[in-house]
Amino acid sequence: MAKASGTSVKRDLFNEKVYCANCVHCKLIRIPVGDGQQYQLRVRCDAGKWKKKLGEEKYYKYFTVARRSIEECSAYEPMGDVKDFLKELKKTLPIKDEVYSYRNA
Ligand code: SF4
Repeated sequence: MAKASGTSVKRDLFNEKVYCANCVHCKLIRIPVGDGQQYQLRVRCDAGKWKKKLGEEKYYKYFTVARRSIEECSAYEPMGDVKDFLKELKKTLPIKDEVYSYRNA
């Protein structure tokens, strides 16, 4: 997906909330579960903005990613039109925290 031109902005073009799913720093990762043959999907902020109370990095479940929004973010780098992006994303997101097999990946 093409990155929007311009420098980082605190909010999207319509001065609405920042949706992390539309940010270049929101990354999809696999977390091994069970015997290591399976995994679950998580998202992380590679700009280091998501932290637990004690300072550890916080991951969120992938199926919740469309709900991750904040009022503003100094590191937000939008990847495109947020409304179109979220609409398409919601069509493909799982409805719950699925377990996947590496063998079928
Ligand atoms: S940099 Fe900001 S907007 Fe981007 S994913 Fe991290 S917290 Fe969300």
